[in-house]
Amino acid sequence: TAQPLTDKRIRLYDAVIGKSILDRMEMEIALRAAINTDAIELFYQPKVAANTGRLCGFEALVRWKKDGAYVPPDHFIPIAEETGLIMPLGEQILKIAAAQVSDWISAHNLNIPVAVNMSALQLVSEKFAHFYKSTVKRYDIPADLLQLELTESATAEYIDDILPILNSLRDFGCMIALDDFGTGYSSLSYLKKMPISYLKLDRSFVEDLPDSDAMALARIISLLGHELGMELIAEGVEDEQTAQILEGMGYDQFQGYHYSKPLSPDEATAWISRAYRNEEAV
Ligand code: C2E
Ligand code: MG
Ligand code: MG
Ligand code: MG
Repeated sequence: TAQPLTDKRIRLYDAVIGKSILDRMEMEIALRAAINTDAIELFYQPKVAANTGRLCGFEALVRWKKDGAYVPPDHFIPIAEETGLIMPLGEQILKIAAAQVSDWISAHNLNIPVAVNMSALQLVSEKFAHFYKSTVKRYDIPADLLQLELTESATAEYIDDILPILNSLRDFGCMIALDDFGTGYSSLSYLKKMPISYLKLDRSFVEDLPDSDAMALARIISLLGHELGMELIAEGVEDEQTAQILEGMGYDQFQGYHYSKPLSPDEATAWISRAYRNEEAV
């Protein structure tokens, strides 16, 4: 819906570049207002063990409820990064995840790991590691239950600043995953130096299976990760045939629509109860 613009100059500008700048400004203002309210929610997607199908934990995926609909993270995380809003938003996300971990412990007596996605910008700031540690203490949860996912491409760019921070998090007990692996440019020497517990094969390779190039890359990444002592996770697994191929290559954990979409907190809690009930029945 076009705003009535009286200034000719602005109207021309708007007409030439489309509405994108105004849209972004509107998004930024709305996002700023949404942070630290319940308009920011986390959904939880299960990760399951390749060999047994048992629940290994969840990945937390942020959702922004705006005007009654969910805005996907790809639409607002870049804006949050460009405007610095990623700092308060990232802190809120970490707090929501910590509260959920704590709730599953206290209400269900279950230790369920939750992995939170991080923007590399957050990590470059020394403040973040402090915030992570104080959150773990405040919610009184084991650090290995509040995991972090970093994308490979973002990490490579800031590696020298990030490495000491990652090491201090690792020493504190935090488990770190390298996300979307295979799409970035991390050199092998950095990969070896980084305190990474999990390597997540990017969905684009999983999607292309069983094409021969994707087969070769998925196999090599599995060998590489295992050689470096990491566990391998495949994301975006959508069918059983793909799961079987990846299991044959030694992948340890699977995540994707074949198992479950990202779930609301209530749905995730129901998923856990079901998973544990089935296990007791075995
Ligand atoms: P990601 O970390 O690689 O997350 C996986 C994305 O793939 C999620 O999209 C998920 O819903 C989707 N997905 C999962 N399984 C399947 C599948 O089987 N098939 C297909 N086609 N897609 C699948 P989502 O939730 O839209 O998140 C997109 C990206 O936004 C994430 O990619 C992550 O990089 C970023 N993101 C999400 N939450 C946060 C957050 O809290 N903080 C930051 N900084 N980034 C976040
Ligand atoms: Mg992720
Ligand atoms: Mg990923
Ligand atoms: Mg991905």
